[in-house]
Amino acid sequence: MTFDDLGLSPNLLAAIKDAGYTSPTPIQAGAIPVALTGRDVLGIAQTGTGKTASFTLPLIERLSRGRARARMPRSLILCPTRELADQVAQNVRLYAKNHKLTMALLIGGVAFQPQKEILDKGADILIATPGRLLDHFERGGLMLMGIEIMVVDEADRMLDMGFIPDIERIFSLVPPRRQTLFFSATMPNEIVRIVNTFLKDPERIEV
Ligand code: AMP
Repeated sequence: MTFDDLGLSPNLLAAIKDAGYTSPTPIQAGAIPVALTGRDVLGIAQTGTGKTASFTLPLIERLSRGRARARMPRSLILCPTRELADQVAQNVRLYAKNHKLTMALLIGGVAFQPQKEILDKGADILIATPGRLLDHFERGGLMLMGIEIMVVDEADRMLDMGFIPDIERIFSLVPPRRQTLFFSATMPNEIVRIVNTFLKDPERIEV
């Protein structure tokens, strides 16, 4: 299997080549073609398996195919920690370098206002930790009704960190007609419950 077989467009394939990747990892080979169809994905994969590209690549591809109806964020990637959000943002920057997509990194522990200014200019992709995302929703006027794709990364770490109520709230704020890409290394009961509640007939890909 090569990246050319996955259904990605030349702009993305060029960025992948520049990143030095020669063939997709198993989670990428499994998740990317499914995610490109618009279907929900439940990915069970650890860090180090290439899971970040397995959701960022189809997200970039799908956003580049469609067009925004208004200047609202179109996708949301939720991460449990600032460090992980930062890593995901670096990945998105790398893979989307041939695209015109804009991005905002919404993490705690840093000033709110500069993030709000970036949001106000229009960001297609939000990469956020749950608490700061909800801050922007509550006091920053962030609009979530344009979200077409929502990603939850490292859901089991979200559970360990007590973020499940925030995650449930955020699921209730994004449109029901959206694609959800949900990743967890393990599947404790509480995560199974979230998946059963908020994902629609997901394809389960386990590596
Ligand atoms: P992740 O599991 O997403 O944290 O990725 C682990 C590491 O693998 C990162 O440094 C990626 O840049 C790298 N990586 C992701 N996909 C590939 C690939 N298909 N070939 C080679 N390296 C990759």
